Amino acid sequence: MLEKESVDIIICGGGCSSMLLLFNLQRYPKFKTLKILVIEKELQNQQKTWCFWHKDHHPLQHLITSSWHQIRFGSDHFTTTQEITPYTYSSIKGEDFYHYFLNQFIPQFPNISIIRDEVLSIEKTSTHLSKVICKDQNYISSTVFSSIIEKEFHDSPIFLWQHFKGWHIKTEDKIFDENVMTIMDFGNCLPNSFDFIYILPYSSNEALIEVTAFSSELWDDSVYLKQLQKYITSNFNCDKYQIDLMEQGKIPMAYYNHTALGKSGEILIGSAAGKIKASSGYGFEKMQIDAERLANDYYTNKFIKKSSSKRFKFYDKLLLKIILDNPGEAVSIFSKLFKKTPIPKILKFLYEETNLYEEAVIFKKLPVIPFIKRIFK
Ligand SMILES: Cc1cc2nc3c(=O)[nH]c(=O)nc-3n(C[C@H](O)[C@H](O)[C@H](O)COP(=O)(O)OP(=O)(O)OC[C@H]3O[C@@H](n4cnc5c(N)ncnc54)[C@H](O)[C@@H]3O)c2cc1C
Repeated sequence: MLEKESVDIIICGGGCSSMLLLFNLQRYPKFKTLKILVIEKELQNQQKTWCFWHKDHHPLQHLITSSWHQIRFGSDHFTTTQEITPYTYSSIKGEDFYHYFLNQFIPQFPNISIIRDEVLSIEKTSTHLSKVICKDQNYISSTVFSSIIEKEFHDSPIFLWQHFKGWHIKTEDKIFDENVMTIMDFGNCLPNSFDFIYILPYSSNEALIEVTAFSSELWDDSVYLKQLQKYITSNFNCDKYQIDLMEQGKIPMAYYNHTALGKSGEILIGSAAGKIKASSGYGFEKMQIDAERLANDYYTNKFIKKSSSKRFKFYDKLLLKIILDNPGEAVSIFSKLFKKTPIPKILKFLYEETNLYEEAVIFKKLPVIPFIKRIFK
């Protein structure tokens, strides 16, 4: 098989974390002198909306289409709407993200090539070089980043899917408060199930409404549709709406000991590096911050291995175990969490930026002791 001459950087996978890495590498003057290959096996699925919360101006602000400063949480017994200062909750459409990277950003740089091929394995060939073995060709580089998830991840002991289906709808009447996004509304939840409604209102008569469930088994299509119809009719008293777009997806949520480096010393990025929070499914902002750090590490030639602290891994394990063992109880624990802890503090906790004292205050108010005991059994 043919082998090409060595390049400076190979990025395996051309998805979200790879684009964020390129974006951050490009912020340094030396970037234009580097020869970079991105190896991606398929065309991107662009029907995604990435949401995340951030402080201040975002490096990808030009791609943000909507932002909210208030978040609503709802359940059968309790509903709250709160300002989320110092955060802003923002969304980027997948089609805008990939359009920007593939048609504007990458074409500016002749030093980046996108190769359509499938990575089969990565081998260390000497102390300085690695070989990326693909279906059609092999490639050599001194630095390999990889966003390809290891097969073992799917065999993790606590494994759940966050799965969702949603509609982008337009209504005749003005029924949405466009200033407030709904992060979770359990008011529509099925018996003994952890499912909720998520709403991004784009205007007073346009919104993305999604039903999301955390479970080990995926749902039949008809269940999502029933849940969506029921919610729209009963909560907004609305029967007349036009569905413009359908969004569907599933995110694996597992307790897995992610490492910073792969088996052949490649630097892992994105989901492969554990940047998607196991208990929430959010990963975009964590991947952006990680890409900033990796770019700096690359140019300073010091790779600092960084992964979630043991404490946060334990909290993720606990939350996943509660949802898996007792979804009904998990709904009640989430309601208590939002009742007793201000939403900005929950957002800070989910980004793993709280300190031990703040975490003790959050958990003290929740009935989680029986689940902690079960983890240590
Ligand atoms: C439907 C959906 C919605 C999400 N929404 C949000 C959200 O709102 N907010 C948030 O913070 N996070 C969200 N996430 C989580 C996370 O941000 C995304 O999964 C994100 O795309 C992860 O980036 P990644 O680079 O790790 O993976 P991907 O974007 O999936 O990129 C990996 C790439 O590698 C390619 N690849 C895989 N194997 C090979 C191979 N052998 N050879 C070559 N190429 C290969 C794939 O084709 C893919 O393009 C969402 C995830 C999903 C699935």
